[in-house]
Amino acid sequence: SQDVPRPEKTRVLTVSNQKGGVGKTTTTVNVAAALAHYGLKVLVIDLDPQGNASTAMGVEHHSETPSIYDVLIDDFPLADVVQKSPEGDTLYCAPSTLHLAGAEIELVSQVAREHRLRTALQDYLDSIAEPYNYVFIDCPPSLGLLTINAFVAANEVFIPIQAEYYALEGLSQLLNSISLIQKHLNPRLRLTTILLTMYDGRTNLAQQVAADVRQHFADHVLETVIPRAVRISEAPSFGQTVITHDPSSSGAVSYLEAAGEIARRALTTPGGSNEHESAG
Ligand code: ADP
Ligand code: MG
Repeated sequence: SQDVPRPEKTRVLTVSNQKGGVGKTTTTVNVAAALAHYGLKVLVIDLDPQGNASTAMGVEHHSETPSIYDVLIDDFPLADVVQKSPEGDTLYCAPSTLHLAGAEIELVSQVAREHRLRTALQDYLDSIAEPYNYVFIDCPPSLGLLTINAFVAANEVFIPIQAEYYALEGLSQLLNSISLIQKHLNPRLRLTTILLTMYDGRTNLAQQVAADVRQHFADHVLETVIPRAVRISEAPSFGQTVITHDPSSSGAVSYLEAAGEIARRALTTPGGSNEHESAG
């Protein structure tokens, strides 16, 4: 495997886009698995009640499983819910269960409701002997309190964009939310990473969307694009990431490349080296 740099301190990225079906979960689990494949220690926090990231990572998440719900609502330590994923020797997941669907409402009446994930993560990172290199938070498709908790816990925002018509629609709302979070709740938060997903280079439309996104977001956009590929979409039904499902497929290769790029550009991109101040 190629040489991928290890960040000095834990990088915490929230994978967000309030549109559903743009590839957030697919990107979260596959970039995480790719970084773990390179030997880095990676945690995925599944913050979507659907639990698709937990499924794809092959971790248990039935209704009795201790989950991120218990962390946010009942003050469970994150250490009590994190499971090792069979998808990698250094890959871990804090699963979600359907209970999380109620958390959006239950959080409203909680003390420090926007900071609960941040506090739990910080305590966890401070408590473990071998630090994580990366934490990815898979967000639900909304800008509610769960997503706000992710924005407050993270240092970096990672936006997957589906290379399709309407790709840019709604992004200004997301960017606006990010600036509000920066102003009021988390001044460290930076948009660092944009990845084009489900790219079909044979269509003019995909090429046009890619060009528009690169024009709008310049340096933040990864060179690597993720192709639309059957291996990627079928992997979760095997409880797998595409990295283990079919390592030589175009989907796996592109996610491995994207992960390498994320790891390397942190060293050069302004704002890309934001660190979780408590870790390391
Ligand atoms: P989100 O988390 O943003 O809702 P998902 O990651 O669940 O989006 O992706 C939506 C659907 O698209 C899923 O069925 C997923 O398997 C499929 N999908 C995602 N990326 C690709 C891809 N590169 N090629 C083919 N199908 C994909
Ligand atoms: Mg999802």
